[in-house]
Amino acid sequence: MRLEWGAATDKGLVRTMNQDSMVANGKVFAVADGMGGHFGGEVASKIVVDFLTKLEGFAGKQGLFEAVKEANVAVFEHSLTTPELSGMGTTLTMLVPFEANEEFDRDLLEILSVGDSRAYLLHDLDLIQVTEDHTYVGELLRSGRISVQDASMHRAKHVLTRAVGVEPDIEVDLWEIEPYEGDVILLCSDGLTNELVEPQIRKVLIEHKDPQSAAEELVSMAKKSGGSDNITVVVVRVAEISSLPSDSRGTALGRDVGSGSQLGRRADPAEQERPKSPLSRISISTNTRRAAITAIPSPIPKREVQRTSLIMKMIRTTLFVLAVAVVAAVVAGVIDLYAKNSYYVGTSGKYVAIYQGRKGGVLWFDPKLVKVTSVQLSSVNQARQVELNSGVVEPSLSAANLFISNLMSEVNSQKQFQTTSTTLGSG
Ligand code: MN
Repeated sequence: MRLEWGAATDKGLVRTMNQDSMVANGKVFAVADGMGGHFGGEVASKIVVDFLTKLEGFAGKQGLFEAVKEANVAVFEHSLTTPELSGMGTTLTMLVPFEANEEFDRDLLEILSVGDSRAYLLHDLDLIQVTEDHTYVGELLRSGRISVQDASMHRAKHVLTRAVGVEPDIEVDLWEIEPYEGDVILLCSDGLTNELVEPQIRKVLIEHKDPQSAAEELVSMAKKSGGSDNITVVVVRVAEISSLPSDSRGTALGRDVGSGSQLGRRADPAEQERPKSPLSRISISTNTRRAAITAIPSPIPKREVQRTSLIMKMIRTTLFVLAVAVVAAVVAGVIDLYAKNSYYVGTSGKYVAIYQGRKGGVLWFDPKLVKVTSVQLSSVNQARQVELNSGVVEPSLSAANLFISNLMSEVNSQKQFQTTSTTLGSG
């Protein structure tokens, strides 16, 4: 099989660094979109791509899994030993060509993916998305819980459910393509697919026969559409294939591409309509305990989203705390004013007393005893006693003192009256 390829990457118009990494060397083609920490994303995607670049080749499909598993461990262990790289990870979408040999009866293209960097196949002028996005929204979409339109607007659009290097184990999808002359494979980071729609991508791949010029054109178009993220594109064109299968396409479709760990073949009607380019998939976890794909895995926040939402969260939290503090201060002030700037005349034991505050208290402000007068409760008349027991509110201390003065003269006049009447009675 003879392949022609081209590749281009750009940090875009918004980001200060390019955390995408790529390789295109004939043996392996890959795009990795890093995430996590300050430099973490850059480091993670570079570790994976460097690791893959150094490999001499892959021992079949199993060798592919082994390589990705090792790359995963390399990133994960590096993140454990370097605190500032903690939590880093990367997407990985890679293409590895296998020549026809005793194991494979024809040339094959193996596409392995983790995350939301996509692989597309242009076949017979049709653009087919090969990989599935391992994003929270992608999972919701596939399970039918949201529509395509909802998905494109979803705020958690970039939250990954799978990534290389974030856990000791990794689950990868493997897609197998039987290539035909003229087929084009596109590997790209989400910086391309978030800016361009599929008809635009298709048009470029059809019009630019030279893979390098197609790659450059796609990157330049993504920048013109906003370039809000790093853009990385690898374009591989199948110029020639070494052999053709002796059997019919029908049997090629039904072939088992798994090796014991196969979790399911894509029963996609669209696939049957395209017997000339069958896609098969094996999804394998390196952790044998995770033998089945869970419907909605717990999301792994992607770096940029995490960073933005973290800042937003911090701003929101700060504003909220400030607002709460201001409201609390105002309320406390009002209550304090209300509670302290009033007095009442009540009782303290057998005596009439002046209190600051409200009878019974206001929230945590208990009334404060200001002064116990010499006026005995028993000396005032019945009506006054009832009044004093429930507390006579006065706007100020002087008003309360005035009330006491009046009460004293009242008591005195009553005493005088009583004395007088007694005198009169006895007389
Ligand atoms: Mn990206």
